[in-house]
Amino acid sequence: MSEKVQHIFDATPFPWDQPIQYLKGIGPKRAVLFSKLGIETLEDLLFFAPFRYEDRTALKKIAHLQPGEEQTILAEIKAVALIETPRRRMKIIDIAVMDETGLLHAKWFNQPYLKDLFKRGEKVMLSGKVKSNHYGGYHLEMESPQYEKVDEEDIQVHMGRIVPVYHETKGLTSRQIRSLMKHVLIQYASKASDVLPPALIQRYSLISLSRAISELHFPAPESPLTQLNAGLSLAHRRLSFDELFLLQSGLALRKKKVSTKQMGIAFNTSGSLPDRLRDLLPFQLTQAQEKVLAEIKQDMASDRPMNRLVQGDVGSGKTLVALISILIAIENGYQAALMAPTEILAEQHFLSIRDYLETLGKKVTFLTSEMRKKAKEEVVQGIGTGQYDLIIGTHALIQEGVQFKRLGLVVVDEQHKFGVLQRAKLTGKGYRPDVLIMTATPIPRTLALTLYGDLNISIIDALPPGRSPIKTFLFYGKQRERAYSFIEKEFVKGRQVYVVCPLIEESEKSDLKAALELSATLQKEVFPHRRIGLLHGRLKREEKEAIMREFKEGRIDLLVATTVIEVGIDVPNATIMLIEQAERFGLAQLHQLRGRVGRGSEQSFCLLAAEYPLSEEAKRRLDAMVKSNDGFKIAEIDLEIRGPGEFFGTRQSGIPELKIANLMRDTSLLEAARKEAFAWIDRDPNLTEPESRPIRFLLERKWKGKIEWLTTG
Ligand code: ADP
Ligand code: MG
Repeated sequence: MSEKVQHIFDATPFPWDQPIQYLKGIGPKRAVLFSKLGIETLEDLLFFAPFRYEDRTALKKIAHLQPGEEQTILAEIKAVALIETPRRRMKIIDIAVMDETGLLHAKWFNQPYLKDLFKRGEKVMLSGKVKSNHYGGYHLEMESPQYEKVDEEDIQVHMGRIVPVYHETKGLTSRQIRSLMKHVLIQYASKASDVLPPALIQRYSLISLSRAISELHFPAPESPLTQLNAGLSLAHRRLSFDELFLLQSGLALRKKKVSTKQMGIAFNTSGSLPDRLRDLLPFQLTQAQEKVLAEIKQDMASDRPMNRLVQGDVGSGKTLVALISILIAIENGYQAALMAPTEILAEQHFLSIRDYLETLGKKVTFLTSEMRKKAKEEVVQGIGTGQYDLIIGTHALIQEGVQFKRLGLVVVDEQHKFGVLQRAKLTGKGYRPDVLIMTATPIPRTLALTLYGDLNISIIDALPPGRSPIKTFLFYGKQRERAYSFIEKEFVKGRQVYVVCPLIEESEKSDLKAALELSATLQKEVFPHRRIGLLHGRLKREEKEAIMREFKEGRIDLLVATTVIEVGIDVPNATIMLIEQAERFGLAQLHQLRGRVGRGSEQSFCLLAAEYPLSEEAKRRLDAMVKSNDGFKIAEIDLEIRGPGEFFGTRQSGIPELKIANLMRDTSLLEAARKEAFAWIDRDPNLTEPESRPIRFLLERKWKGKIEWLTTG
């Protein structure tokens, strides 16, 4: 790099946190408008990236004009004349303008007032068709061109270059922001001293921070517009790298703390309990399950706490892998906790695991916040005295008052519904258990690296054998009869059916009403000879359990359900799922729902009932469902449609917000930043080396309020 890299502690600290109202040209009133755009500080302003760029470089020099074409010039007014032609009774304004290369006349007819508008010495922009004219000597001419008088600032900031276009708010236009930005950049950009270690700047051929900040707003003239608009300019690259490097440094630090500072439990993984479970199963584990299990066992055997994320598409058999890990912990004399995001999922796990555990002579219990006080107290007490080996529940497990006797393993199912920070809470209760996180929301690798950068990742990449992909069809209202007769054919074959009620936003009450109406209609008018059950969130636990059991045992043919069945329900004989008003559901949710069928060896179907006409976005979602069964592909499309912020609720997950970097776009940059950050933290885990000081400084700024999470277990 030819540019001198100035270092952060060389000079007085840069006033990143300075409130913008004290910047020249802003003041308290405008500061309020800026805050509507999320801009409070100088830093916010400098990193307020244009959402697109516009090419205004197309100004021609007079000498380069092509007669016959529409062109635009910027020139100085040299003379203004009003010519009257009495014979044709015409008044013509003729101005002569010049730039460094030549002279041109512009004429307007019968607009005499223009005489007073144009003044000698002023600059004017003219666009129009160019002619060459020969009377009174050869010269170039524009007839009635578009005109715009421009001042020095226009020339400096708004024209003749690629200009930034910003999001606006009422009272604050993109043009105003552009002018202010120009002034702020002149004052501050060059002073923004670099923070990234010089070695990295060189290795990745990054431009300096001050140049990047400046060119983010006012790109160099040679920057290709398409690259700029795709967020792929040198400036974007530099600033994205900074963000990603810091993000990954934080995660690396966190991971280091978790894995080195704390001694965990070294489990003996060669006990016989897992094998006794295997003997009870009617099938063998898949290769994919075995591979992941081996990785888990290695972690569990180590004396460092395990922090592992297991990703596996819906139905890939994560629960079983978790169960075997649980048995290892129990056989070592520890308690295990299995935490699920919803009551119904926790219950499902409880129901499917309880029999196995009891057969193996182990004690399992269930805890949610919904339980009656007395019952809850009894369970909590039993957990404290070590009466239970496995505790299955909701987030009630991490609430105050629950003390384990000897917690050794925590399994968190469907991680995406818990924030990353919530996970720390359980391990922060004074235990150093191994932690296993299961997610069925398949996360594209780039995102996983970021959100779970402090975890190790295992992927169950195949489904149990004998499952054919679910066939998915989209249909509209009028074709409903055909859908029903299709369902009837499956009934005749002895199969069972789910019907998922439409999502209703307003309230749980109307949700319930819709579910009741739907099941009544189906029972009375469509399938009077079939047994129809209804499952919804308002039922008591025992009622839900009873209905689930009836469905599982085949005493209910058709189960009408709200999205309570989204996760965890497992009835292999159910082969059709009909989703009402499918356009109202998110893509991830549709995929989760669909995962309730296709669990046995029979061909399964998913019928998406939609209401016409569909929005463009809904159409993309439903098309993705019809075309793909692959959860990873679906997650990627979902991410594309919704963007990473929405997709994952980054704010809630506790990681710093990315202003310039884009996780979908900057994949390779993310991986590079991750590699470098982890290597850096590995070399200097406490960031005490002099050249780590800027990184430490920045980490403290960027992870404000979260730094504690980074450095305590
Ligand atoms: P996930 O939680 O990953 O969605 P589950 O653990 O609920 O999947 O498993 C889905 C179904 O597959 C369950 O009925 C389970 O008993 C069954 N299953 C799990 N592993 C296997 C296997 N190796 N072979 C056949 N069936 C399996
Ligand atoms: Mg599961």
